[in-house]
Amino acid sequence: MNKMNIILIGIQGSGKGTQAKLLSEKYGWEHITTGDLFRRNIETATELGLKAKIFIDKGELVPDKYVFLIVKDALEKAVDGFILDGFPRNMEQVHFLQENFDIQQVVLLELSDDKAVERLMARRNCVKCKRDYNILFKKPQRDGICDICGGELVIRDDDTEKAIRKRIEKFHNETNQVIGYYIEKGLLSTVNAGQPVESIHNEIISRLGVE
Ligand SMILES: [Zn+2]
Repeated sequence: MNKMNIILIGIQGSGKGTQAKLLSEKYGWEHITTGDLFRRNIETATELGLKAKIFIDKGELVPDKYVFLIVKDALEKAVDGFILDGFPRNMEQVHFLQENFDIQQVVLLELSDDKAVERLMARRNCVKCKRDYNILFKKPQRDGICDICGGELVIRDDDTEKAIRKRIEKFHNETNQVIGYYIEKGLLSTVNAGQPVESIHNEIISRLGVE
């Protein structure tokens, strides 16, 4: 068994979700994102889910206190290891992890801002069935038309260059300190996310030292 607790950090467009999924399928580590945890807790109406929903419904950030309880519960259940995706985003969250869990490695998927913008602006979404496409990596057979339902493919409203650059800036502001912390701890490896999916996957595995 290769039980491991790892953190994946990457800008939107770095393929972080895809890599987390591949690792999860291969090694049985639980892929954990706070978005999914909230969704699941709200759907099943857990006490924490209902508390979080009050803030989400108001369009406010869920206070760290509740985020911690939800994350802690999920990480404790991930007995074969976990891949944290999108958490920690600030130093309070880093310290919470440090106090409660043993993190073996942090992998930073590195992609330039311009590359990320290019990839994100290539995304297309079917208006009917909501299926995702990307005119760089996952092209439809006919331009602008969904392969599955024939619906029209459009760019999402929040995928304008301005909106994307704003999200990227937010990402850097949030993660700079977190990345610095894990570098100092000697836990961080950097992988070039500009490569094909399979190459990134192999490089992550070799950095993690698993087979
Ligand atoms: Zn469609």
